[in-house]
Amino acid sequence: MSEANIVENYQEIDEKIRKAAERSGRKREDVKLLAVSKTQSAAEIKALKELGVPFFGENRVQELEEKDAELKSDDIVIDWHFVGHLQRNKVKYLMRMQNCKMIESIDSFRLAKEVNKRAKKNERIIPVLIQINIAEDDNKFGIKAENAEDFLQKIIKFENLEVKGLMTILPYLDEEESLRSYFKELKKLFDHLSQNVKKLSELSMGMTNDYQIAIEEGATIVRIGRALFGEREY
Ligand SMILES: *Cc1c(COP(=O)(O)O)cnc(C)c1O
Repeated sequence: MSEANIVENYQEIDEKIRKAAERSGRKREDVKLLAVSKTQSAAEIKALKELGVPFFGENRVQELEEKDAELKSDDIVIDWHFVGHLQRNKVKYLMRMQNCKMIESIDSFRLAKEVNKRAKKNERIIPVLIQINIAEDDNKFGIKAENAEDFLQKIIKFENLEVKGLMTILPYLDEEESLRSYFKELKKLFDHLSQNVKKLSELSMGMTNDYQIAIEEGATIVRIGRALFGEREY
């Protein structure tokens, strides 16, 4: 996709985020845009960073390392969020990258333990989100809603993790009302945990197909790929 198109896409999305935030009684700056740049080039990432996109998401460690090196050789330092299923043997590479600022996809206790261990080795505290499989979709990773409170209680004991909130990936659903009800359910869980276990600040939900609904239901981070960059070519 040409950089001119990316600028146009960005402006359109920025406006839609603003309007959806207003519909939920909030402001544009209450909702952060995470540009999901998997399969996209360093040049496209650079164009979006120049427009003010605060951070970028990747779902594969090797791809992330390669792009990061390419951008750094151009003196560009990106704040990355890791958003994919993370294998434990890859955690050490991610934790060495000081500009990997958040792992949004903590989906098991063993992973949380490994991230804590590697963060400690690198003398850092890493912000994380717990991935919740709110739709109980067999094809998705994540903690079941009913186990979320126990899970949070356990992982807040890890000193090198800073649990900031929750994330979810919904299956593709045509019905706006079913999407909305899952987002509502996650927001309710977020509020419950925030009041009863630990104050949480980030609720990462909504992608290209459903981000406006997610914002109306309380998302603080939307993760957008295709609406920004165009369709992915693998
Ligand atoms: C690819 C991906 C996205 C972005 O999806 P789009 O439909 O392209 O907006 C968001 N979150 C995660 C975890 C992803 O893997």
